[in-house]
Amino acid sequence: MPMNTPTQSQPSCNDPSEPDALTVDAAVDKIVADINPISAFEQLPIRDSLGRVLFADLHSPMDVPGHHNSAMDGYALAAEDLPESGRKSFEVVATVFAGQPFSGDLKKGQCLRIMTGAMLPDAVDTVVIQEDVQRIDETRVEIGAGHRKHQNIRFRGEDIRKDAVVLARGKTLRAADLGVLASLGVNEVQVFRKPHVSFFSTGDELKSLGETLDKGEIYDSNRYSLFGMLSDCKVEIFDLGVVRDDPQQLQKTLQQAAAHSDVVLTSGGVSVGDADYIKPILQQIGQMEFWKILMKPGRPLTFGKIDKALFFGLPGNPVAVMVTFYQFVLPALKRLQGSEQILPLQLPAVALDDIRKTPGRKEFQRAVATLNEQGVLQARLTGRQGSGILTSMSEANAFMVLPEQSGSIQKGDTVMVELFTNYR
Ligand code: AMP
Ligand code: MG
Repeated sequence: MPMNTPTQSQPSCNDPSEPDALTVDAAVDKIVADINPISAFEQLPIRDSLGRVLFADLHSPMDVPGHHNSAMDGYALAAEDLPESGRKSFEVVATVFAGQPFSGDLKKGQCLRIMTGAMLPDAVDTVVIQEDVQRIDETRVEIGAGHRKHQNIRFRGEDIRKDAVVLARGKTLRAADLGVLASLGVNEVQVFRKPHVSFFSTGDELKSLGETLDKGEIYDSNRYSLFGMLSDCKVEIFDLGVVRDDPQQLQKTLQQAAAHSDVVLTSGGVSVGDADYIKPILQQIGQMEFWKILMKPGRPLTFGKIDKALFFGLPGNPVAVMVTFYQFVLPALKRLQGSEQILPLQLPAVALDDIRKTPGRKEFQRAVATLNEQGVLQARLTGRQGSGILTSMSEANAFMVLPEQSGSIQKGDTVMVELFTNYR
């Protein structure tokens, strides 16, 4: 991975127009450009493959449906036997159910009572739905004109052709895909191995849950929000706890973590305070990029490699941790997982608030997106937006993404939102 020489100038908080600062998009591009998908796969029963990424194209072992069959309950006959005008009487020679093929012959003037999904015998090519048929007695029906050859029929292979690529490498398997695999009789699939992700929090002020807070101390929350975000993305999680602001300890933990991980994440210690050691340690033991990103929150981002592991030094502020995880770590994880879809979907929404903003940085405001009475997506902010105010994330279901060049937003303007999930 090519690494730039570390940037010596420090990011300032009041000058967003530094020439060496990167846009969010440029940083994401740089991060994913050098990541190759993990080259190992697992063979899993299809139930266990839910949410995982397909390692190899899946070719269909058969046609689906495997035989021409009726799409409706009705009467099956040969189209050439249908009347061109008026009505015609047919003898009903058998009833054909799904799974019970009819093996007899059909003469002119004969038809079959047929159920949805039942296999069509060779002699018939058309199904007339029962609502269009007049039943005369037990063995006779009358059918009128105006029907089309091949109506109400599902043809062999119309959904999936034998040997066609049904699911492509890089596809994240969802519920429908499990159904598709089952419909092909496929029991097991190859998926990319899960990335191994280690993470720890840094800071002398941090206490773990169960410990008593002394004066000036706070509970470590980042490890929990990171655990939550990682749990949503099918990775092996290694929680390494809290590490003090002690260079030896930090270095040792980073090296151990890198030795058995594909990705190492830390939070805190990446700004320019006296106890911010992550940057110099990474310069010593790995390759480092320190970027000033034109974004808010989450400005300085440390990214690099320790041995073969990718390293992200996330900021300490709880909201900034979450924003930078979603914007930078998640695309990297998706790339490692072999996924073809690595960027979040953005949707337009009507802003319900006036929002003050100066051009320069991309802002990720925490928002609640809903549909209004006309069915149009709208979004309001979740109150105060400081990067330490984690309840702003808790209340939100979306980021409102205000691009770098955007100035203030007025109520009623269209803004873009990134939904956290599909739930309201
Ligand atoms: P730092 O970048 O280490 O100076 O941290 C920035 C801010 O985030 C400080 O107010 C820290 O106390 C806070 N912070 C850092 N790590 C955590 C954490 N794991 N949980 C909660 N707050 C944190
Ligand atoms: Mg700190």
